[in-house]
Amino acid sequence: MTNHLVSPDLLEIMQCPACAGELRERLEPPALVCQTCGLQYPVRDGIPVMLVDEATPSEETPSEETS
Ligand SMILES: [Zn+2]
Repeated sequence: MTNHLVSPDLLEIMQCPACAGELRERLEPPALVCQTCGLQYPVRDGIPVMLVDEATPSEETPSEETS
């Protein structure tokens, strides 16, 4: 049984408010992470907080760059 923060259908239509990028959920800590700009949006009580002011930038640079 897969644990989802938000339903996959909902996640599919949601997008990053900063860059309109694709979002992916992270379970620990609960957050939705933009695959384009790396902003992490917290999920509080099962509700994603899609505010740029509440988002935290990714500290790590993704190593999986398409070359
Ligand atoms: Zn973004």
